[in-house]
Amino acid sequence: KDELNIITGALELSKKTVKDVMTRIEDVYSLQISAVLDFDTMSNIMKKGYTRIPVFDDDRRNIVQILNIKDLAFVDPDDNTPLRSVCKFYNHPVNFCFEDQKLDAMLEEFKKGKSHIAFVQRVNNEGEGDPFYETIGIVTLEDVIEEIIQSE
Ligand code: ATP
Ligand code: ATP
Repeated sequence: KDELNIITGALELSKKTVKDVMTRIEDVYSLQISAVLDFDTMSNIMKKGYTRIPVFDDDRRNIVQILNIKDLAFVDPDDNTPLRSVCKFYNHPVNFCFEDQKLDAMLEEFKKGKSHIAFVQRVNNEGEGDPFYETIGIVTLEDVIEEIIQSE
């Protein structure tokens, strides 16, 4: 029965998109690039418990870096280290995908790439100005795997 669920889930991957499984940007725990890694900020990060934390500049949808929890290993909260310098040092790749990307293709991307998180983009052509890309969520390998193993 479990096996059947997994197979069914795997077959569904070509029908579902990243938008179906992503975490919406409003629900994402992220940090402002200008933040200082003081005691409060670092305990907050630890409390949240996420391994990957998007770092934005000014607007939460403008993601510029990713902080990995492991990057904090050598950071002393007493030093008030700027988050910006830690991000610059590790400079993890930031990968994007489109909201309509199918999950099977996304899984391939995750398998190929070094990163297990991608930022979900859509083209915003509402309003007067030129269309622009906006980030509407994050998708991780876990979100795709969950779709495979939780399918009914
Ligand atoms: P890992 O399991 O590699 O330690 P994690 O537990 O931090 O990482 P994932 O397992 O990749 O996170 O994802 C679990 C769920 O949490 C997924 O639904 C994912 O979209 C969501 N998620 C991941 N990072 C964040 C974040 N910074 N803010 C909010 N939700 C997140
Ligand atoms: P990401 O942030 O992209 O998810 P990560 O650095 O958290 O990557 P994992 O995704 O957990 O790392 O693992 C990446 C690869 O490294 C996997 O193939 C895993 O089996 C391997 N790996 C993880 N930890 C170790 C370890 N201590 N020794 C050897 N290989 C490891």
